[in-house]
Amino acid sequence: MARRYRWMGRGPHSRHVTAGFAARRRQISGALGCCVLAVGAVSPVGAVESTCYGTSSRGRLEHGASLPLGGSNFLAYSTLGWSLGRAYLHSRVRSAVLDAFALMQEDMPDRVFVYGETGWQNGGPFKPHRTHQNGLSVDIMVPVQRAGASWPLPGDAFNRFGYGMEFDAQGRSGDIRIDFEALGQLLFRLSETAERQGAPIARVIFDPALHAELFATSRGNWLRRSITFMQHQAWVRHDEHIHIDFSLTCAPLDAYATSN
Ligand SMILES: [Zn+2]
Repeated sequence: MARRYRWMGRGPHSRHVTAGFAARRRQISGALGCCVLAVGAVSPVGAVESTCYGTSSRGRLEHGASLPLGGSNFLAYSTLGWSLGRAYLHSRVRSAVLDAFALMQEDMPDRVFVYGETGWQNGGPFKPHRTHQNGLSVDIMVPVQRAGASWPLPGDAFNRFGYGMEFDAQGRSGDIRIDFEALGQLLFRLSETAERQGAPIARVIFDPALHAELFATSRGNWLRRSITFMQHQAWVRHDEHIHIDFSLTCAPLDAYATSN
């Protein structure tokens, strides 16, 4: 069986997860007001384009750009993780992600999204992940619903900031359920915006046990035809998040060593 990520805290705790809902709801409400400021503060318009080196499992990044803490319909998985600088990306991938969230605001205005870890400003080893080293990898937490309403995936130190959540093959965890429709549409939009940035999606890792539910959505046939999903279980189970690798030609890793 695939292992779980081990860092920053212990396993899920139902009391804290339930309490986390309210806290995250408040947090995203606050983020709605802060988004313009956050975007402007992190990466001003006209910022330098990033350069990636090597591969996602052995790479670096120059001029990495952070995702904002939140926006009108999305939020970071953890304010702490974000403030530690764990949400940096290649500028093109960052734009693709933000453009996709913006399109989702039009497509499904009642949905909220939570992005997960991405990488360091200068790339390199990013524990506990095995990849995420050159700015081309993004984790996005699964969109979820509770009592029919969209909720940000509950995340705190007690459930490893959402990474400790466990879903069954129907996408259920306690009283929350994966919103497969929203996930399918998000992947569709992300594919579109990534193409536009010249950094198409290379592959998506999502627990194979949950593929059937995803492929049963409105975008299911399109996803099956157009996106490369890893078909076997990864080294950790990807039920509470999807991992996306984007495709860009990067400079050789040696070049980073000589320019820094
Ligand atoms: Zn990942």
